[in-house]
Amino acid sequence: MTRAMPSPAAAKPQVKPAEAYLPFTRPTIDDATIAGVAEVLRSGWITSGPQVKAFEAKLSEYFGGRPVRACNSGTCTMEIALRIAGVGPGHEVITTPLSWVASSNVVLETGARPVFVDIDPVTRTIDLGLVEAAITPRTRAILPIDLAGLPVDRDRLYSIARKHNLRVVEDAAQSFGSTWKGRRIGSFGDFVSISFHANKNITTVEGGCLVLNDEREAALAEQYRLQGVVRTGHDGMEVELVGGKYNMTDVAARIGLGQLPHLAEFQARRRDLARAYFEEFDRPVVRSLGIGLPPENFTDSNWHMFQVILPEERMTTRRSGVMEEMKSAGIGTGVHYPAIHLFALYRRMGWKDGDFPHAEYAGRNILTLPLFPAMERPDIPRVVRALASILGRHSKA
Ligand SMILES: *Cc1c(COP(=O)(O)O)cnc(C)c1O
Repeated sequence: MTRAMPSPAAAKPQVKPAEAYLPFTRPTIDDATIAGVAEVLRSGWITSGPQVKAFEAKLSEYFGGRPVRACNSGTCTMEIALRIAGVGPGHEVITTPLSWVASSNVVLETGARPVFVDIDPVTRTIDLGLVEAAITPRTRAILPIDLAGLPVDRDRLYSIARKHNLRVVEDAAQSFGSTWKGRRIGSFGDFVSISFHANKNITTVEGGCLVLNDEREAALAEQYRLQGVVRTGHDGMEVELVGGKYNMTDVAARIGLGQLPHLAEFQARRRDLARAYFEEFDRPVVRSLGIGLPPENFTDSNWHMFQVILPEERMTTRRSGVMEEMKSAGIGTGVHYPAIHLFALYRRMGWKDGDFPHAEYAGRNILTLPLFPAMERPDIPRVVRALASILGRHSKA
């Protein structure tokens, strides 16, 4: 860490960080995994090979034996799922604007059109009550997002999908380790896409996996993953469809193999820290600030993130001002996410302000607070006190 030099230009009051900088997230990678990566690097086989196969086997076991294919992101996995489902030009996919832009971009990538419906302001995930009204003869799939690891109601989701004969691509990028009524996310349902990006609950640095329904789909996923190539015998090669360059490396897979055994312990840690957040936010002086909290779900959620919604109408500053002051207090925060339909690309396709009020309010005011397994319990009151003090100072009388 570099120490800031006292600057004469520093006119505005600065909160001096008394403790080390606290990022909003940080991966935990153990020494055995680092040593394992070194072994892979020395082995002579560093791209897709035995480590990827082993990682896929472990993942498949975790998901109750369903076929799994590992890829180099949790974005291409959704694109591959859409392609296997036959989604393309002229089709529509129903999704929500409060997500990482990847979940809508993949729909555009196939030539189809995303159809947004608003979020439920409590769960912050797709309002399933709005889905049926958005279905048209062109609709092929529903693509819900488990924001912050809180699973979308799978019973209701699949009853809508079955009734209208639609495929489902679960964007479970954030919900690896979450459950629905005691069943692991990914162990049931249609396509389930997981991300192993550095910020996710377990990581391969960059990477993802797709849980599929059968071996036919798994074979297609392999083709879409690597240039459409099908190999037979020693020298047979055929290409019948356009595939991407989406294969995972053995280096990444080795990291994933080293992460998996820690999932339960990471999860327990995240849960304890989330509970601590609720305790701190429950103090009367903090409660009176009107900060929006996530649902207090300690059965299904993997607590991928702890996100608050700032009370915009009661503040004399904006989210960016709060983030700046949190940073000065030595605390990192994040934005997950701005509403997708208001990005220039999507505005050009016809969406505008006011289309999805709940997603837009969240998009402007949602703030991700630090939460990761290596955090300490005392970090939580530190974060909440800093936030409360900032909002207190910028509160409309
Ligand atoms: C991280 C994430 C993705 C994409 O994952 P990558 O591995 O970064 O491609 C997609 N959707 C959501 C909701 C995510 O959080």
